[in-house]
Amino acid sequence: MTQTKKPKKLWRIIAVSILALLLVASATANYSLYTLNQRLTEENEDTKSVIRKLQLEIMQLKEQIKQMEQSRNPNAPRPDAVVFTFDDGPYRSYSPGNSTEHTEIILDILKKNNVRAAFFVLGCQFDEEQVGSGGTLEHYKKWVKRVVDEGHTLSIHDYNHVPYWKQSKKELEKSFEFTAGKIREFTGTLPSKYVRSPGGSISEEAQAYLKQKGFRHVYWDIEAEPLNLKTSGGFLDHSKNEIAQGKRGIILMHDRNASGYLADLIKYLNSKNIKIVSLADWDRKYGLPKTPYKSQTVRF
Ligand SMILES: [Zn+2]
Repeated sequence: MTQTKKPKKLWRIIAVSILALLLVASATANYSLYTLNQRLTEENEDTKSVIRKLQLEIMQLKEQIKQMEQSRNPNAPRPDAVVFTFDDGPYRSYSPGNSTEHTEIILDILKKNNVRAAFFVLGCQFDEEQVGSGGTLEHYKKWVKRVVDEGHTLSIHDYNHVPYWKQSKKELEKSFEFTAGKIREFTGTLPSKYVRSPGGSISEEAQAYLKQKGFRHVYWDIEAEPLNLKTSGGFLDHSKNEIAQGKRGIILMHDRNASGYLADLIKYLNSKNIKIVSLADWDRKYGLPKTPYKSQTVRF
């Protein structure tokens, strides 16, 4: 009899232990579920607050876009600001015993005055077989890299200074591809979306092509160096005169000339509290000046 009692007692102990273990496991599982639920609720709250923040930011952005569109109105008052643009570079003039590093001088002046400008460059200056105007490929490689590294806008003018309305689509494409390719090779980045046809005019065909490629053509508001003037003093006086008459916006200059008067022009603008802003900033706020049109002279 005692032999059968023992196992019964043992089974009871085992059964009670299993029951106790099950109870503990169930309590632990319940607790875990509870904390998980808690966490999910908290995370849900976090997600909701992120969504609320994003909605607020979208509303603010919409408001900013509305304000920008309103300020693009051509009748809206223009701000007291100008944009510096330099064409036909990079440029160095050289004769035995005498050289002027025009683009480098401009870059130094801009750096010293903490000003951002836009450079519309010629592709032939990056072509080993064509590189001209007294510089070497090494000069131009170095300077074009500085343009990018120092925060300026690097843009295509043309390969060899032919107005866009005098080029076929194939020629224009080749000019853009070569210049953009060299800019990428020398600076590690592509040129900006801004371009400028030599002479400033453009045909409707070329304009449609630029639009299709995502480029924006940049005409100007102030021509700093009219052809009848030849000296730095003449360019400076003319520019100051235009500004004194209330002209604002995009100033057209050239590397080869501006190196001689840029520092004085900045001094003048500073004395009048006229800001010098980047091309992209101006474009975002006020749009670009209207480009004059010319008819294509070759089949596009
Ligand atoms: Zn030009």
